[in-house]
Amino acid sequence: MAGTTGSERARATLAYLRRKITTGEWEVGSRIPIEPELAEQTGVGRSTVREAVRSLASVGMIETLPGRGTFVRSAAPTSALLNQFLADFTLEEILSYRRALEIEAAQHASIHRTEEDLVALERAAAEERGCTRCPVMGFASDDDNAFDSKFHRLVFDSAKNRLLASLYAGVNDQLRLPEHRGRLANVATGAEMERDHARVLDAIRRRDFIDAVHAMVDHVDHDVVIVNDQHEVVPALSRTPEQQQRIENAIEVQDDKLQEQV
Ligand SMILES: [Zn+2]
Repeated sequence: MAGTTGSERARATLAYLRRKITTGEWEVGSRIPIEPELAEQTGVGRSTVREAVRSLASVGMIETLPGRGTFVRSAAPTSALLNQFLADFTLEEILSYRRALEIEAAQHASIHRTEEDLVALERAAAEERGCTRCPVMGFASDDDNAFDSKFHRLVFDSAKNRLLASLYAGVNDQLRLPEHRGRLANVATGAEMERDHARVLDAIRRRDFIDAVHAMVDHVDHDVVIVNDQHEVVPALSRTPEQQQRIENAIEVQDDKLQEQV
């Protein structure tokens, strides 16, 4: 980056690091290279690298743990302001908001996804296939990254709406708060998660935004749910048996389409 001004170098360094995260080259939860290595990769001074790292930390994308290194925390920026704002709402309100975002993202992903998005989604679905639960809610309550599924995040990336992705990252931050521990459960089994993700993926592949909605509605209503003191599930939206039947019928039609392709 010879011949450029200090502020241009700073901007380029920031863009370089951000791209490593948004493209998934540096995965959420992974440790990023140390400062001297980054300085070498980018060809700028260590102070410029440090400034870029600090800037990404301020928007919640990375976090520096003293003595352990710097880790990727979120693939999308979440402003402290958004987190403060969301903190005023109840868990029920946050979860219902998450539901709306997931459904909207699935719809937009089925319209705006590129071939590269599809490849990345397929890879993520395959990687998460062995999980016992949709990793969107993990299972180990002490896992910092429990509320982060690469598949779900890539659905938001494919939706090509930065605001949706940013709001989603904010919601995930809220769900991760220690005060909500024990109030959330993931009731979908690994097999259900695989089937659900396959349906969402298939609808996105076929650019069918109606099927994408049905598949995502069915999935989000059991991947993260609220449980009461008696460990009973509090339904996000109570449906009449007729309404449930209509969703199941739509899903069945979609399964037939999936079968035809195989
Ligand atoms: Zn999921």
